[in-house]
Amino acid sequence: MMAADVGDDVFGDDPTVNRLQARAAEIAGFEAALFFPSGTQSNLAALMAHCERGEAVILGLEAHSYRYEAGGAAVLGSIHSRPLPNRPDGTLDLAEIEAAIEPDDPHFARTRLLALENTIGGRVLPRRYLEQAAALARRRGLASHLDGARIFNAAVALETSVNSLCAGFDSVSVCLSKGLGAPVGTVLLGSGGFIDRARRVRKMLGGGMRQAGVLAAAGLYALEHNVSRLAIDHDHAARLAQGLARLGLPVEQHTNMVFVRHGVDPQALAAHLGAHGVLVLPAPRLRLVTHLDVDAAGIDRALAAFAAFRFSSTVTP
Ligand SMILES: *Cc1c(COP(=O)(O)O)cnc(C)c1O
Repeated sequence: MMAADVGDDVFGDDPTVNRLQARAAEIAGFEAALFFPSGTQSNLAALMAHCERGEAVILGLEAHSYRYEAGGAAVLGSIHSRPLPNRPDGTLDLAEIEAAIEPDDPHFARTRLLALENTIGGRVLPRRYLEQAAALARRRGLASHLDGARIFNAAVALETSVNSLCAGFDSVSVCLSKGLGAPVGTVLLGSGGFIDRARRVRKMLGGGMRQAGVLAAAGLYALEHNVSRLAIDHDHAARLAQGLARLGLPVEQHTNMVFVRHGVDPQALAAHLGAHGVLVLPAPRLRLVTHLDVDAAGIDRALAAFAAFRFSSTVTP
């Protein structure tokens, strides 16, 4: 990062940002890419580049862009969300997607976009499902967006390429700052024309950064060094899940995420774990995430912290 060549990315002449964008586009199999300060802004710019005011996006009730992005699509994009329930495996039912596409009639917001998320709550969407969903969107004249903040986790879990998981989607947003370990940044991928529209939206949202090569350098490092090691995070999550199951807690693990229901006061448990150096957001169903700064010894320390807590014996799965 200190050695990065920089320019002014608002004018498109930061060489390190340009290298990152070219490399990300190459890895994921797209024509063009655009560097963003955050995944939230990248998703919003994607939605705004696909949809005009008053047009609708079909997406999951659990989708990050529906639930955890402060309603930006509605507030800033005047985009109508048409949420559908995610099934237990994270997918949206294809028949429900079809049924949610409104006919061309002035009563309805025009359905413009299908947006999926992979991984979602750590769950990897089946490859066949992704193909079917993208094909459905194409057949019905919708654009398709994939929130692939954690798409590299999906690719590593399936032992396949990111490229193959993005096939058929018009745009994909990939976080460099999650499992990949960069301090900041997301890349949005798509066609040249789509990325041109997204660049205008990014500027409007205040995401045009000047000497951003300092940040892009970390993203390039992450793409070159931190992808295959995601398998270690998945192994660590499995080790954590097994240990928690041995304590009698109902546990679910997907890729680098472990979800555990504990049946006790979330604040008390979070405080106890925090005192043992394990940071969690208090919730009835805790989400524990492994990443490149957590090693096997850290997993064992976390398990010891859980073991030292008095759980009631009434936890039900
Ligand atoms: C983290 C995340 C985002 C948003 O990324 P930020 O950089 O935190 O804004 C979007 N989608 C998914 C699935 C994420 O996990």
